[in-house]
Amino acid sequence: MKNTILFILTLLSLSSVCAQHLHTSEHALTYPNIEGYLSLKTDLHIHTVFSDGNVWPTIRVQEALRENLDAISLTEHLEYQPHKEDIPHPDRNRSYNLAIAEAKEHDLLIVHGSEITRSAPMGHNNAVFITDANPLLTDKPEASFSEAKKQNAFVFWNHPAWYAQNPKGNPILSDFQKERIKKGELHGIEVINSVDYSEESLALALEQNLTIMGTSDIHGLIDWDYTEKGHDRPITLVFAKERSLKSMQEALFAGHTVAVYNSLLVGKAEFLNPLLKASIKVNSARYIAKTQVLEVELENISSSSLLFENQMDYSFYSSSPVFEISALGKYTLRIKTLEEKESIDLKLKAIGAFTAPKESPIVVWKIRVEK
Ligand SMILES: [Zn+2]
Ligand SMILES: [Zn+2]
Repeated sequence: MKNTILFILTLLSLSSVCAQHLHTSEHALTYPNIEGYLSLKTDLHIHTVFSDGNVWPTIRVQEALRENLDAISLTEHLEYQPHKEDIPHPDRNRSYNLAIAEAKEHDLLIVHGSEITRSAPMGHNNAVFITDANPLLTDKPEASFSEAKKQNAFVFWNHPAWYAQNPKGNPILSDFQKERIKKGELHGIEVINSVDYSEESLALALEQNLTIMGTSDIHGLIDWDYTEKGHDRPITLVFAKERSLKSMQEALFAGHTVAVYNSLLVGKAEFLNPLLKASIKVNSARYIAKTQVLEVELENISSSSLLFENQMDYSFYSSSPVFEISALGKYTLRIKTLEEKESIDLKLKAIGAFTAPKESPIVVWKIRVEK
């Protein structure tokens, strides 16, 4: 009996140790890797009380662990410090240092970052992978950008379509940005910021060869602003060779990203197509006995519900040509192939995904029919 109690106590203490180190919740995000790359789940635009956010940096680390993210960056406004009287912090690296300390025991990458904040036309820009936030705090925005470049930072233009700065809700590429791009000081652009998606920002990304970004820009709690409303936070999937800060930084400079918000996926075809292809697994493909109706079970192994439209000559027996496979869900298609085939090309357009404004990728899965 004594031994049993001891055993149970040991188990209990073991499980409480484990609980300290496993923080994922039922809303943990998952996306498949693609050939040659790991799909890193990142949110590189986040605020805490060290600028105009409402929570302490440790909460940001715990939220990210709950959602199974690979990397976050706390990008405090360098210039906008509404909590300064209560939390004076002349060292603008303070938020990062607190996050690093919290993340130490956990498998989460913390990217050092800051938001360089000006009114239009400069707007807001995040410099991430910086080494020291303090020298970025200067009067002239040009000097902040050149300092960021000196630190080899990856810099992206935040919410360029924000109506508070552009009343039409469309981004305006000013001489300021053109100059920064020319000088190699601006490398990316948010096409998704919090719940907003801008096709015009995507057009700019493609035209100016800027990396496509999606971020939460969270100020409150992820749970209250997203999860409780049935949403996932927007993220950027970064396709990197390794799960390291260095590899992630290289991938961002190279434009290896897909921005994701729920069922909206935005990225270059080179990465979006393989991601979609890897997200759908074909579990089985069999003819219904004595028919030429092929039954195919598909499984979505990603956290995004995916919308598809049939692009084959064959029509479906019991499905709309437009259908959704819910996040981590299964869907059975019945395809009228008219004659028995050994294999078919399942060809679908992913209508919730975009490689350019109004352009959705067509994905093909080679399906071998089981006998
Ligand atoms: Zn901002
Ligand atoms: Zn922000």
